[in-house]
This record gives sequence, structure tokens and C-alpha cells, in this order.
Amino acid sequence: MTAPQPRAHLAHVPAYKPGKPPVAREDLVTYKLSSNENPYPPLPGVVTAAHAAVDTMNRYPDMGNGLLYSGLAQELGVPESHLAAGTGSVALIYQLLTAFCEPGDEVVYAWRSFEAYPIAVSTCGATSVQVPVLADGRHDLDAMLDAITDRTKVVMVCTPNNPTGPALTQTELDAFLGRVPTHVVVVVDEAYLEFVRNADAVDGIATYARHENVVLFRTFSKAYGLAGFRVGYAVAPEPIATALRQVSLPFGVSSVAQVAAVASLEAADALLERVDALVAERDRLQAALAAQGWDLPDAQGNFLWFALGERTADFALACDDAGIVVRPFAGEGCRVSVGETEANDRLLEVAATFV
Ligand SMILES: *Cc1c(COP(=O)(O)O)cnc(C)c1O
Repeated sequence: MTAPQPRAHLAHVPAYKPGKPPVAREDLVTYKLSSNENPYPPLPGVVTAAHAAVDTMNRYPDMGNGLLYSGLAQELGVPESHLAAGTGSVALIYQLLTAFCEPGDEVVYAWRSFEAYPIAVSTCGATSVQVPVLADGRHDLDAMLDAITDRTKVVMVCTPNNPTGPALTQTELDAFLGRVPTHVVVVVDEAYLEFVRNADAVDGIATYARHENVVLFRTFSKAYGLAGFRVGYAVAPEPIATALRQVSLPFGVSSVAQVAAVASLEAADALLERVDALVAERDRLQAALAAQGWDLPDAQGNFLWFALGERTADFALACDDAGIVVRPFAGEGCRVSVGETEANDRLLEVAATFV
């Protein structure tokens, strides 16, 4: 008798390592800086709206995400038919690969980049082609172009890049898109879009509108502080958005999540003020770390990247001791989310002993 066997490529799916939660301590308050979450608690108005939605949990959610699509369409100035929602933008990565990749098709992306990419690619039976980021944490766009073959179906760029931090410029993205064959889907993962402050920043909406093969992925998890509710969306030309909707889980985005996302769009001003405060903290940290002698990549998201190599585990341990949990990538470096001011101050203290 033989036991049931999952599809062979599951043997090659790496595990996702989530950022650890902090352990409670008696001597000091501990902080989680390991998952790029928003440290602010939800806005009261958003909580009230979500509570109201709980009262109808016996009903299925609106499968068409009607209020969410109309709110987004108005906010972004795009047709509703160009939107596709999912349970976090991670789900949209799976949807896109499911919709576009046959087994063995290639997906080109930078590495190190978002940990979910290789997992999603191998789960969908496609093949990852990872192009190392440059020494300063930026995408090597020329090498990514060179990596495109007849088998390439999708190229993903992550801007700002998680975990290294730098963002693409519009000039770089335009030059890149001008050279990618038009039958290749280009995903622009903009999970941290709201935190970008560099000159010549990417205008995702203007960009996708000029290309038939460009998809933007966005999320309510980071700037909008809804990580626990799982809502993300794609903005794409209609044929791609349609394909993304076709392969979505029926009723994926819960009714509470839809309501909270719509309420968050309505509260955008208040939420984006908080983003400004986080950006100010990020820039305070970058300046203080530079003064300590660190040469970190340009941080355009809500996190910093310390390329510590062999010292990665030691740094993570020292942070643990100081009551802040960071995200180590063994042998490569630590990603540290911008958090509460007290947590950020402790990071500076630890970093000072590691320069
Ligand atoms: C956090 C993150 C996402 C989105 O995650 P969801 O919570 O699934 O919306 C997408 N891409 C990158 C690069 C991220 O860091």
C-alpha cells in the first residue's frame, strides 16, 4: 500500500519564517520589530466599523468586493475592472503565478527580496530565477533583463525592496519596462509605497496605465495597519485583473476585512499622518546610524537593513537582550522595522556596540 503523495514540486517549497513575537519580561517592555508592522493601534473609527460588521458574520461577504472596489477606484482614479482584491497582497502573488505560469515557466526577481516570492513560485510549480541585489541593496535591473529567457512569464520588482530598503526611481523603472518583452508580466510590488520619500519616486498608477503588462500590488497591511485582517489588491490592465479574479478564492476577503479596508480609505488622512511620523523616525534612525559609522542601504520602507554577514545571529541576540525582536536572515543580515520611539532608541544603543 502506498500513501497519498503531494505534487512532487512541494518538496522544493521553502518554509516561511515569520518574524518572532517578543517574549514578555518583567524588567522591561518588549517590542516587535520583526514583521514590518505598523506600531500604531487601529484608529477608533476603523475599529467601530469592523465591530459593526461582526454583527452580520452569519452571512457570506460580498464576493464582488463592491464597496472596496468603488472606494479604491475613486481614490486611485482607475476603473473598478482594473482592480483585484485578495487576502493580503501575498495571495495576489499566488493568484498571478497560478494564472500565468505553466510548470517550469520562469519567474525572475531580485534576491534577497520578499521571502514569500520563492515559496509562491515553487508552490505554483514555476521556477525561480533569482538575481542578486547590488552591494547597496538595489535591484540589478540590467542583470534582471539579462535573466529573461523564452521561458520567462513573470518578472517581479519590489520597491522599496524588502528587506534591503532602496526604492526604484521612475527613470529606472521606465528604462526597464522599455526593455522587458511585452508578453512578460511585470509585477511592481509596492507594499511600502506610502513610505517612499526619494526624488523621482515611482508613480505606479501612471506607469501601469502606460503598459499592457504591468501589475501593481498594494496592501492594507503596512501603512494602513490592517496586517491581521489580510487585505491587499492589484491594479492592472483589465485582462490581467480579470485573470487574477478568476483564480481567486471565492469569498476570500472577509466581510470584516472589507469594511475595515473601506473605513481605512476614508481615514486615509489620519493614517498617512502616522506614516509621516514613522518616516520621520526612520530618517532619525538613518541619520543617527550614519553618525555612528554605519553605511546602510537607503531605507525607503518602514525598516532598516543591517548587512551583518557572520555577525547576524549575534546582533539579533543583542537586540533580544535589549527587549527588541528583529528579523535575522542567517549569515546575511538583520531587518529591523521602525517601531515605537523607545524601541528605536534601544536599536540605536545596540547598533552603537556593533559598528
Ligand atoms: C508585507 C509585504 C507584502 C504584503 O503582505 P500582505 O500582508 O499579504 O498584504 C507584499 N510584498 C512585500 C514585499 C511585503 O513586504
